Amino acid sequence: MTTSPYPLGLRLDGRRVVVVGGGAVATRRVPALLDAGADVLLVAPELTPALRARVDAGRLHWVPRRFAPEDLDGAWLVQVAIDDPVAAASVSAIAAERRIFCVRADDRTAATAWTPAVTRHGPVTVAVFGGGDPRRAMTVRDAIRNLLAVHLASDGVAPTPSRPDAATSATGAAGTTGGPQIGRVALVGAGPGDPELITVRGWRLLTEADVVVADRLVPGLLLDELRPDVELVDASKIPYGPSRAQEEINQILVDRALSGAFVVRLKGGDPYVFGRGGEELLACAKAGVPVTVVPGVTSSIAAPAAAGIPVTHRGVAHEFTVVSGHVAPDSPASLVRWEALAGLRGTLVILMGLKNLAAITDTLIAHGRSPETLAAVVQEGTTGTQRALRSTLGTVAADALTADIRPPAVVVVGDVVGALDG
Ligand code: SAH
Repeated sequence: MTTSPYPLGLRLDGRRVVVVGGGAVATRRVPALLDAGADVLLVAPELTPALRARVDAGRLHWVPRRFAPEDLDGAWLVQVAIDDPVAAASVSAIAAERRIFCVRADDRTAATAWTPAVTRHGPVTVAVFGGGDPRRAMTVRDAIRNLLAVHLASDGVAPTPSRPDAATSATGAAGTTGGPQIGRVALVGAGPGDPELITVRGWRLLTEADVVVADRLVPGLLLDELRPDVELVDASKIPYGPSRAQEEINQILVDRALSGAFVVRLKGGDPYVFGRGGEELLACAKAGVPVTVVPGVTSSIAAPAAAGIPVTHRGVAHEFTVVSGHVAPDSPASLVRWEALAGLRGTLVILMGLKNLAAITDTLIAHGRSPETLAAVVQEGTTGTQRALRSTLGTVAADALTADIRPPAVVVVGDVVGALDG
């Protein structure tokens, strides 16, 4: 029976940590050490490509040979990540002589320090020891991770503006000096439709929000899981025309934040892909409200992918262009040079293009893109109601009409449409 370990948080910033070994275990251990700011010295004759890349990027020092005692000079901690028990034992004996704590991948009972299973949620780090059973530790860790993802805010671990990822103001205005404490805004990409395709950070901020301002295209299930006390503003229900509605949304974001709330502006796909995220950021910045942006998985890539279409493919397409079809090609308001796009060989992804699809395809063909070019339409990609249709540039507009394809849908033009067909 071993005594239980004494938990400790090592502050490794700028401190030397020696990792002995350059294989799979070292590959898994090194990132967390670098993340903690450690000055990592890697001792190994050979490295995995992932470790090699970090060495090449100048993130750590590599001594390309087997371990020698002087490698421990100045070290605060050693991680032994080699399989050879004799070599590992000799490293840990030298470490023990010098009173340097030593983690051993090969034999935890011989180690002087253990690494816990870890989950991180913003400022909170949870470390779990499983009483000598790493699997038990991971199971408990996973359970806690799931719990925290849902309950972090309601358990009173409130987000603090000083947290590094919490908020950065575009204007540099801190917004917290004097007067009542002001809140902040996060522009969060909700992903293309499948509720699991929101980012980990986006999800965490959503669970911490006091107010959520959501778009029409945001996955409903994400909103289903909000705490009952969260104020939910449905941005698609705001009356007035589109530009007035946008002003209203900006105003809601600013007003709620100024009154102290943490506001999550949840937007379909990525906030900056035809999402007016930039306007909202500027409005917040102008009002001195700290605002942060969390990118999202954009439908322009994810909807084709969900229908089996890669937007690039080796030997098929070395470019993809995402374009809005919202404004008709012949409209004076159009900012798109469709005739130039017609001259491209690669993939064209058209968002908001259903209404003008016939005019768009006609224009592309008139300026030289072959009517035989493969094309596809994906409606409600990544959701349970996804529909996809394969066609060609010449016929896709008519086919979409016949099939009664409705928004939201993306249109993909290019040889990639058939790239994965067996
Ligand atoms: N910011 C969003 C796009 C907003 S514009 C993003 O990055 O995905 C809205 C358009 O996106 C829709 O008209 C449609 O063309 C496309 N779109 C959004 N979600 C979609 C989905 N699940 N499937 C297909 N197209 C989608």
